[in-house]
Order: sequence, then structure tokens, then C-alpha cells
Amino acid sequence: MESKHQIEIERKYLVDLVGELPQPVVSDILQTYLLSDDGSVRRVRRRCGVLPDDRPRFFYTAKRRIAYDRSFEHEEEIDEARYTRLLAERDPQRGTVHKQRIVFSYRDQCFELDRFVSPALDHCLLEIEGAESADQVSLPPFLRVVADVTGSSDYSNANIALRVPQGFQLQEQVSLLPFNTFGIDALARRFAVLHSVDDYRSLLRSQLLSQMPFFVLGGGSNVVFTGDYQGLVVHPANRGIRLLDQRDGFCFVEAQAGEKWDDFVRYCIAFGWHGLENMVAIPGCVGAAPVQNVGAYGREAKDVIHRVHAFDIATGLERWFDASECGFAYRWSRFKGDLKNRYLIDRVVFRLESAFRPLLSYKALAAALAAGGNDSPSAAEVAAAVSSMRDSKLPDPKVIGSAGSFFKNPVVPLSQAQQLLHDYPSLVSFPVDARHTKLAAGWLIEQCGWKGRDQGRVGVYEKQALVLVNRGGCNGSEVRALADRIADDVRSRFGVSLECEAIFV
Ligand SMILES: Cc1cc2nc3c(=O)[nH]c(=O)nc-3n(C[C@H](O)[C@H](O)[C@H](O)COP(=O)(O)OP(=O)(O)OC[C@H]3O[C@@H](n4cnc5c(N)ncnc54)[C@H](O)[C@@H]3O)c2cc1C
Repeated sequence: MESKHQIEIERKYLVDLVGELPQPVVSDILQTYLLSDDGSVRRVRRRCGVLPDDRPRFFYTAKRRIAYDRSFEHEEEIDEARYTRLLAERDPQRGTVHKQRIVFSYRDQCFELDRFVSPALDHCLLEIEGAESADQVSLPPFLRVVADVTGSSDYSNANIALRVPQGFQLQEQVSLLPFNTFGIDALARRFAVLHSVDDYRSLLRSQLLSQMPFFVLGGGSNVVFTGDYQGLVVHPANRGIRLLDQRDGFCFVEAQAGEKWDDFVRYCIAFGWHGLENMVAIPGCVGAAPVQNVGAYGREAKDVIHRVHAFDIATGLERWFDASECGFAYRWSRFKGDLKNRYLIDRVVFRLESAFRPLLSYKALAAALAAGGNDSPSAAEVAAAVSSMRDSKLPDPKVIGSAGSFFKNPVVPLSQAQQLLHDYPSLVSFPVDARHTKLAAGWLIEQCGWKGRDQGRVGVYEKQALVLVNRGGCNGSEVRALADRIADDVRSRFGVSLECEAIFV
């Protein structure tokens, strides 16, 4: 068994993944801090590879900081029995940190990247050992540095352990402002955050969902609150991504419901699991993706979802839905229909491809890549092209509140579409099947003169007429009033009914 004493010098950065990692090796780490009476930081660690045959290894470490960027460290490998005994000395203030360690080398340098599952961090933490503070560290291009946090106590693992959530707690009168991208200031009478599958079970055992109205809120990027919510808002925040199986050219990847969708897409690109690139940068969480069958640039979630795991709210029973049982259609699934409010989705398994085949059926995307002279783009390049196209026409929710496309593109009978095309030759439309055509709702709204127009504190985005935006402090009733006016105008001018994609709550 290994044992070592050393002075450890480390630089730490918060980073995002923005490309493919070269042959990453992943292990799963559970790290528990122990009580200490001599000022050192003591911990035990269980480390296990993620392949089915991988066996866990156990380590004990004692660290003493001697400068802001260096510490003296003693580490030894221990057996499972000693690990279990040491767990009895755990520091009650600190929870067990769960993280994925991703190791890769780039230009002869080894990098260790930690992705925190619990507590969840918004970015990965990159540690580079042995680099003096004066050294120039050159980071690989597939990592984007968000901040240099070398020496920051906020990002010491021992302090991160203070932030591990301890079971689900019911909060009262919680502001929903940070939980919806439209930026509507409403209150939830009760609010429960689910950090783990155990939290789902505890919530369902508590019977709270049968005692009051409830609403499941993911990233809040497809909802408009029309007032304070008088029931319980349930917010899935459980994180974790893992490869379950790789066979016949496919990778089966499981993601927990609280993973941010964009993080998940970028993680898959980094690991060479393909099929999600065109759906990069969609706000929201993984758990909501099957609900409305998210889609963009020619790809829909239904094309890559293998199965969905959910809790039956009435009975607490858990079950899988194969993709074929989800009733997927354009921005639709049974979770919005007959199963609405009946299931709480806690994780989704995706069937992705090991080999990358760019999907360029969306003409503007193909044209953008071709214009850059790129006729065989990599997955990361497709994602970058999609991201920049989205940036050019959609508001960034951190700057301008919106719910993305507010209306669905209406699907009309072919005969009606032909008549409209005759009357309005520039009408933008897409064939659906032999009898139906989809019309571009943005075009219809723009023709009614709404693009860039405001009504009080709500408006229509100047770069994309399909997007309603918060001009500052608007409420849900104002959004509804504007949506109704636009739909009325489109109906009276074109005889076409617009249906909201965003959900009023
Ligand atoms: C700027 C912008 C751009 C967008 N672009 C796109 C786009 O390109 N394509 C697209 O399809 N959408 C787009 N959207 C809409 C939105 O991002 C998606 O609909 C997204 O999937 C919503 O995820 P969410 O986690 O925010 O869900 P929420 O808005 O929180 O919830 C949406 C629905 O899903 C239900 N739900 C959420 N989580 C769960 C769960 N775990 N179990 C059961 N039910 C659940 C909710 O109850 C609700 O009914 C965009 C939105 C914005 C703001």
C-alpha cells in the first residue's frame, strides 16, 4: 500500500469544459473530513474507477497548510476496515464530498479536474500540482478559465465540505426570482430542494405533495409565474453524470435531473459521447428535457433519450419509462399530457454515439460552418457554431429575462398552408408530413408589427419576434396580456392560433 510525505504546491482554477478531453480517466471520490485536535486537516477518501470491474481503494490523508498555496501532506493507502473505523471520527460540521476526478494529460503535463456532485459547484475545479505561483501555467484550449482561486479558502475541499446539503429541508416564503429566467419576482409559500434520490424518497414519504398544490421547478426557463405560488415548489437539484455502458457503437449515459442541461451537453462532448451538440446552450435542467422534448437546430431530446426514471407521486413507487412510452412529439411528451403532475423525474438515460456524425440538416447551421470553410467539423466546432448562432438571436437570461421561444410554431393543414403561401409568398414554413405544415411563429408575429415593440414592462425581442422579454420588473399578468394580444393579432390576420410554449404557473 502506498504512503507518502511531501510539500504540496498547487494552483487552483475554476474552469468550464469547452471541447473534447484527450483520453480522460475518471474516478468517483467520496471524501470525508475527520475531527482533528492538532490543527491539521484529516480526511479519508474512497476512490473507485467508474468501470463495472473497478475496485475501490481507500486513503487516509493529513494536511497542514504552510503557505497560501502550499501544504505539508501525509497520505497513506489503508484497508476498508480501517476506513470504516476512521469514518466514526467524522467531523459533524462537514458532509461527505462526492466528486468525480477526471485525469488527463496534455503536452506532457498531467491535469486533475474535479467535478463536484455534492455539493454541486457551477464549475469544475482544476488543480495543478507542483506549479510555483510565479510559474506561467499554460492551460489546454478545451478548458475555459473562469477564475484563479489558488489559495482561496472558499475552494479548499475542507470548506467545500461545509456546504454539503444535509437532507431535504422545507423552506417557507422563498423568493423565486433566482429560480426563473424571466426574472419574475414571486414567492413560493413552501420550497423543497432535492439534492439526492434519498431526498425524493423522503419527500414522497412525507405525503406533502398530497396535502397541498405543488409545482416541479427545474431551471425555471420555460415558466412564467403569474403571482406568488401558494403551494409547494419542488426543485430537483440532484447532480451526477455517468457512463453506464458502451456497446454496438453507442454510449449509454445517465444524468441526474438537477444537472444543468448545457453542462451535461458539454460534458458529453468532452468525453466523446455524441448526439447532443446541436442542443448546446439550451437553459434548464436535464429533468425537464423529456417533459417538453427540448430541441434545437434539427435535434430533439427524443432522438437521444433511451429511458426516463421517475417517482410516482401518488404511490412513491419508482419506475422506468422507455423512450417509446414517453409519447414524444414536437415540444411534447406524456409528462405534459396524461402523466402531468403524476411523476417526478429524477434521472434520464441517453443513448449517444461513440463516433461523431455532424447533424447539419438545419440549413443556417450548415451554411455557418461552410462559410468558415469547415466541411468536416468536430463535435466541439458544431457546438461552438450553434452557441454563437444562439447568442446572435436569443437574449442571455443573465442579462435580459425571457423564457426563450414563447410560442410554439403552429402546425396547420397543408391546404391552409398553401393558401397562406399563395397570399404571403415570403411565409416561412417547414413540411411536417403529407398533410401538415409547420409555420414559423416568429414570422407571423413579425408581420403583425410586434418585433421590437413593448407593452409596458414586457416586450418582443428586437432580434427574434418569438421571444417575449422582461423590460424590467414585469409581472406574469403583464406577460400574459402581451401574449394574448399577439395571439389575437396573428389569429385575426392569418387565421392561425398560436399556442404558448412557456407555461403560466
Ligand atoms: C433563452 C432561452 C432559450 C431557450 N431555447 C430553447 C431551445 O432552443 N429549445 C427548447 O426546446 N427550449 C428552449 N428554451 C426553453 C427551456 O430552456 C426548455 O424548455 C427547458 O427544457 C426547460 O428546462 P427547465 O429545467 O428550466 O424547466 P422548467 O422551466 O423549470 O420546467 C418546465 C416544465 O418541466 C417540468 N419539470 C421540470 N423538471 C421536472 C422533473 N424533474 N420532473 C418532472 N417535471 C419536471 C415543470 O414542472 C414544467 O412543467 C429556452 C429558454 C430560454 C430562456
